[in-house]
Amino acid sequence: MEWTRSETLGLAAVKCAICRGMGLKATRGGGNAPCGCVFRAIFRACYARFRQCVEKEKTLSRVTLDCGPKGCGRVTWSRKDEEYMADFYLVTKRSLTADEWKLFSAHFLLGADWRLCSRQLGMDRGTFFHELYRIEGLLGQVYRELHPYSLYPLDEYFAGRTENDWPEPKKVVRIRPGSLHARLRVPVKKAA
Ligand SMILES: [Zn+2]
Repeated sequence: MEWTRSETLGLAAVKCAICRGMGLKATRGGGNAPCGCVFRAIFRACYARFRQCVEKEKTLSRVTLDCGPKGCGRVTWSRKDEEYMADFYLVTKRSLTADEWKLFSAHFLLGADWRLCSRQLGMDRGTFFHELYRIEGLLGQVYRELHPYSLYPLDEYFAGRTENDWPEPKKVVRIRPGSLHARLRVPVKKAA
């Protein structure tokens, strides 16, 4: 995964206390890793475009003729707005756990504010925003590193898909509480 400064600089939050607006933070091994503010910026850009597509008059939606990802040898008809909405929804749902999806759909899809979400999900204000920022960062990274076609950058997505030429990231096994993985990690007591 090649996250460079030229990739992160325009996305980083100017007042970020971690990366100081550079978009990269130092890792323990002496390398660099993208800062969470970069991933959150990617998420917010993708989410803003999703809302724009949802709220747009359906008569404004257009059919376009696009070249295939490897040139114009094969062209396809597409409805970009509808495809983007479906991709955004499905990629998001696939990437989140059941609890994360509950928070995401309540806040970002149904428009519930933090008070309503906190009451419905049984969490305090601090925990709600902590989870919200974590989910935004997680999804921003997924949208950028998605293979074979990423959701971000949006201009590339809407101008005809270009294949994501970044090497595929190593699969991270996310362990959900109560899942089979989590149970397998619990040491089994030997019978006396
Ligand atoms: Zn930062």
